[in-house]
This record gives sequence, structure tokens and C-alpha cells, in this order.
Amino acid sequence: MNRVYIKTYGCQMNERDSEAVAVQLRDRGYTVVDDEKSADIVLLNTCAVRDQAEQKAIGKTGHLAKRKRDNPDFILGIMGCMAQNRGTELLDRLPDLDLLVGTQKFHRVPEMLDQLIRRENALGPRPNTLVDLEEEAGSEETIREHSGDQRQVSAYVSIMQGCNMHCTFCIVPKTRGAERYREMDSICAEIEELVSRGTREVTLLGQIVNSYGMRRIAYRNGISPFVQLLERVNAIEGLERIRFTSPHPRGFQKDLVEAYGRLEKLMPYVHLPLQSGSDRVLKRMRRPYTRRRFLEIVAQLRAVQPEISLSTDIIVGFPGETEEDFHATRDLFEEVGFDMAFIFKYSERSGTPAAEMEDDVPAEVKDARNKVLLEILGRSSLERNTALIGTEQSILLEGPARKGEGLFMGRNPGNRKVLVPANPRLVGECVPVRITETTVTTLSGHLCLAGVDESSAGMLAR
Ligand code: SF4
Repeated sequence: MNRVYIKTYGCQMNERDSEAVAVQLRDRGYTVVDDEKSADIVLLNTCAVRDQAEQKAIGKTGHLAKRKRDNPDFILGIMGCMAQNRGTELLDRLPDLDLLVGTQKFHRVPEMLDQLIRRENALGPRPNTLVDLEEEAGSEETIREHSGDQRQVSAYVSIMQGCNMHCTFCIVPKTRGAERYREMDSICAEIEELVSRGTREVTLLGQIVNSYGMRRIAYRNGISPFVQLLERVNAIEGLERIRFTSPHPRGFQKDLVEAYGRLEKLMPYVHLPLQSGSDRVLKRMRRPYTRRRFLEIVAQLRAVQPEISLSTDIIVGFPGETEEDFHATRDLFEEVGFDMAFIFKYSERSGTPAAEMEDDVPAEVKDARNKVLLEILGRSSLERNTALIGTEQSILLEGPARKGEGLFMGRNPGNRKVLVPANPRLVGECVPVRITETTVTTLSGHLCLAGVDESSAGMLAR
């Protein structure tokens, strides 16, 4: 009665939250399994960013509820953003749920499961659904544990929760609450522990990660709290690479831009969410920057790090987006030449201010705009990748590739996936790789071994 399966929907924050819950459950004597069918308890860690994501989780829950009818001991729970967003209204639709756990209560899951099982063992009355959706001061510090099962060459570290911005299309401020920051000492101790277990790269996570510490930690000689944290992480011995996601363009002030030139572990890769290239649409989205400012940030980053890789998020077909607005986005998108982008067709998200606006861009127009940007992205990604052919790149090898015998997967400093034949001993090392081929998304190459002919390097490495 103690095998738990956790299914995670959505972003890296959710993955990180699920990992922490899994470790807390193991510490409490539960077995976390990879196979849903063998589980006695299934927990869905949900996403609320789009309506579609919620419908998917609701469908899955309905399907799992059938198992409860055959086996009343089976336990079914929903955690995370959808639980927070929809609250107890979910119980009208899914009365078989045993647990409903909000985004500030992940750490309570083991105790809540204990409670359900105790009642079951005592053959006492089955408790009604256990619900905890309250805010909890200090809950940001509870996403700390990492799975110790296997070495995590690259690990996510949650540094804050919540968001104080109010972009009109976004549900996050409702599901994750106001910004709450972890203590710098605690973050650094977590990373030091990861490094002692073999981690070489960390990605600092937050809904608006470069707001870290705002109005709580003082600036020091013009250096923001987030850059102070980067400096401390950069000094951790044994760590080789630092990344972070997802930042807001507003936080790319001089100190953060300059950090790319002076912090050697900060990788030359930035995810810089644009959303729209039209000032009029940006205003309607309540994004506090202009296209001019966005281009200025890109130019400043490239001046400090000419090789920097850039990715972005774009929404096409936001309410009121005209042809002219879209052309402004298209032109800016082309001008920047992104390495990667997530392009979304706007869909109404109930509970957001944008849902009050008329969703007036027809579906076929959204499709066409999406297609235009995807074509530009395909061209620019391939062009940027092709420029790397023949160069030697430092690749942090993360583990075996999903496909291809003897092939290993790693990433270059710019966060591109690279496939390379290698020896398993090299996993966790930064190795020099000569890039020989590319697709739009993935580079391939051979190890460059000092004093060894490159063509035979791949064979030797095996
Ligand atoms: S900054 Fe990001 S998380 Fe915050 S409201 Fe805007 S889109 Fe949502």
C-alpha cells in the first residue's frame, strides 16, 4: 500500500517540485515507482498555464478514478497549479479525489498520505478529500531535496516561488502567489551538496528568476540580489556551469549583462521572453518594455558575449493583434535571429485579465502567423548551428542518448544538444568535441583527443 507514481505536467518548476515530493515520500518509507499500473497511489502534479493542460489532467484523473471503483484502497491526488487555480470546484467534477494539494503545500503530501492510509488500516471512515490550498510562509524553502538515486550531472535548483508581475495573459500570479525568495545561504548549501554528489551544472529556477531578492536583499555597489547570488554560485568549487530560467527582460540591467563577461561559469545562453514585437500589444499584455528596449538588451548581451545563444517565447494572435502588430513581431524576430523559440497561438485563459478582452484574431490567422515565425526560426536555428560545424565545443556529457548505440548526449555552452560517441566514463565531464553535422535542433560530432587523429577519436572513445 505504499507504491507511489507521480505524473508531472508542465514546466521545469513542476518537474523540480515533483522531484522534491518524491524524495520526501521516500524518506517517509514510500516507494516511488516509474510504472503507473503497479502503483497504489497516483499523484498528478498539474499545470494551469493553458486550458488544454488542465483538460488533459482532468481527463487523466477521470480515467484513473475508474480504478478506484475496482479497488477502493487506491489513492488518487492532484497537486500543483491546477489544484490551486480551480480549488474545491474540482471536487464537483472529480468526487473520487482523495487529495487536493496547492502549490505552497507540496511538503505536506507525505503526512496527508499517512493520514489516509492510517484511516484505511484502522478500517475507520474514509476521510473526505484532504484539501490544503492555503498560503504558507516559508514554503519556498521546502523544495530542496534532490533524488540521490543516480548522479545528476545537471540539476535544477528552485530559488524562488511566485511572481509579482501581472501580465494580462498569465495565470501564474494566481497559481503560484506573490514572489517569495529562498535564503542565499540555503541555496548555496544545496548546490554545494549537489556538487559533492557529482553535479556539474545547475539551472536556477523561478517564475521570474532575475527578480530574486528584490526589495528584500539590498543592492551592493549597484549589484542586484540576483547577480549577488550568481557571484556566490560562481565561486562554488567543483561546479562548472550555471544557467537560469525563466527571466524577465526588465531584469537585464547593466549588472546582469556585465555578469556574462566576468562570471566564467555563467553559460552564454539567455532565454529572453519577448511575447510580442509590437509596443501596442506589449502594453495590452502589460509587459513593461518596448521593442526598442528589447533590441537594446540583445545588443548589450552580444557586445559582452558575441557567441551568446538566445531563445524566446512569443504569443501570436493576442487580442487586438493587427497585421501591422504582427509584422513588428516578425521583423524583430528575424532581426534578432534566435537559436530557439517557443511560439504559442493565443488561447483564452479564464481567470486572466486578457480573458476579458475579445479573442478577435481568427484561428486561421493565428495558424498563419505561427507558421511564418516557425519558418523564420527553422532558418535561423539551422544557420546558427551550421556556423558551429568545424568548431571545437566544450560539451558537458549528461548520459546515454535516447537513440543510437554508444552515443551520448551533452550540451554546448549555448545549451544546444550535442550527440557524440563516447565512453560512459566521460559522463559528467566537459569534453572537447569537434562538431561535424547538424539538424535544426541537434549537433553531432567527435571527441577531440589531444594528439590523436580526429577521425579515429570516436572509435578510441568507445
Ligand atoms: S512575468 Fe512571467 S510568470 Fe509573471 S505574470 Fe508575466 S508571464 Fe506570468
